[in-house]
Amino acid sequence: MTYNLSKSRYCSGVQCPKMLWLKNNMPEEFDNSVINDAVMATGNEVGDLAMGLFGEYVEVPFGDPKGMIEKTKELIEANTPIIAEASFSVDGLFCSVDILKNLGDKTVELYEVKSSTEIKEIYYQDASFQCHVLSKLGYKVRSCAIVHINTQYVRHGDLDINELFTVKDITADAAMLQPDVSDNIDSIREYMLQPEEPPDDIGEHCFTPYFCGFFGYCTKHLPTPNVFDVAGARTSTKLKCYNKGIISFEDLNTCDVFSSSQYKQIEHELFGYPPYIDMESIRGFMKNLSYPLYFLDFESFQPAIPLFDNSRPYEQIVFQYSLHYVEHEGGELKHTEFLAYPGSDPRRALAEQLCADIPLNVCTTAYNMGFEKGRIRGLAELYPDLRDHLMNIHDHIQDLMIPFQKKWYYCRAMQGSHSIKYVLPALFPEDPALDYHNLDGVHNGGEASEMFAKMATMQPEELETARGQLLKYCGLDTFAMVKIWEKLKEI
Ligand code: SF4
Repeated sequence: MTYNLSKSRYCSGVQCPKMLWLKNNMPEEFDNSVINDAVMATGNEVGDLAMGLFGEYVEVPFGDPKGMIEKTKELIEANTPIIAEASFSVDGLFCSVDILKNLGDKTVELYEVKSSTEIKEIYYQDASFQCHVLSKLGYKVRSCAIVHINTQYVRHGDLDINELFTVKDITADAAMLQPDVSDNIDSIREYMLQPEEPPDDIGEHCFTPYFCGFFGYCTKHLPTPNVFDVAGARTSTKLKCYNKGIISFEDLNTCDVFSSSQYKQIEHELFGYPPYIDMESIRGFMKNLSYPLYFLDFESFQPAIPLFDNSRPYEQIVFQYSLHYVEHEGGELKHTEFLAYPGSDPRRALAEQLCADIPLNVCTTAYNMGFEKGRIRGLAELYPDLRDHLMNIHDHIQDLMIPFQKKWYYCRAMQGSHSIKYVLPALFPEDPALDYHNLDGVHNGGEASEMFAKMATMQPEELETARGQLLKYCGLDTFAMVKIWEKLKEI
């Protein structure tokens, strides 16, 4: 039986045919956590918007492929000039073209829309597959192009979709790949005929262009932990070790391929060492922190389609912060916060309140300060009247992550990571008040971004619940920083 191929199946098969085989035969082994719903939603939103790129269009409604193909046929016969989701099938191959320009006499132009900001190698395969299907059906594909997001676009007033999108003609590249498409289809189909699980090994293809959801399954025979659990190491280095048979932490401990901090993870895992604490370095670091001391954490979201004036696609738009502070040694721990309502640009109000909340020349801490500093610089550029105050806050920020990043404080439970999500439970394993799992609705920055984006369409009651969850989440981030600081003070 011929294995039917859609363009996404074809692209998966090009990345790794075993991925397709497993999807077909052992779908239950797929780890759904690799699917990012927010990325998918962004893709749909961008795709919908791009449909209008060339003026009026007719969209083929999503449904069963047969109906979509019929509808496309009708629209082409009626000389509809622009068709979105035009769908075609031939010899067990199926594709929907994001935007099709119907030039008459079976001549067409194809546009593949991507929500990314640059062109990836796999997009050529995707477009080539579509050219192949249409050519087989007797269409003359006059050109094909990738439509993607232009990060240089800055919104001023109404959205200008001609500026938001970049159209890159890839006709020549797609033509060059045509012979490969036929070969790939044949070999994928032959591969799929195998009755037993193919023995293909893991490799670079498990990570690029997309991380494969079968990685856990394909590595289930490896010892735990193994080379792929070394935190912060390059994938290429891990694969090199794997290919040489250096896989377990015992193996890794006999060679010299990772950094000293990565070996700290390996040794602590192997030998169960007690926590490593470099007192001198930590005490030196703590001297940089002075009263009044502030603990700041931002939350942001990154709309692919800029929502506000003076913002670019995917720009980090800060909508929330939490701020704990202690005014003097032994002083009471105080808290303030900001959380915007959706619907209008939150940045000005946030910047104003931040300047009101953090006085000049005080020490502020952030955990992984690059993020907070980057956002403050952005706000300072945007609002020249607040620039001096914002940059004063910026210039006085200290990074509470440093003692953990530099592994001055390390214990096995950190699993090689210096992320606060690992450091906190490692330092306070028994404290439910510091456990992000105990929060409702929002447990990490990604969920916070998603929640804020969703709030734009929520009813008042739901909106208030979501706001409560966001405030609790961000508040825990800075409270956690306070607890970490207290722990470091004890040293
Ligand atoms: S984990 Fe790697 S080898 Fe296994 S199916 Fe995925 S890409 Fe293929």
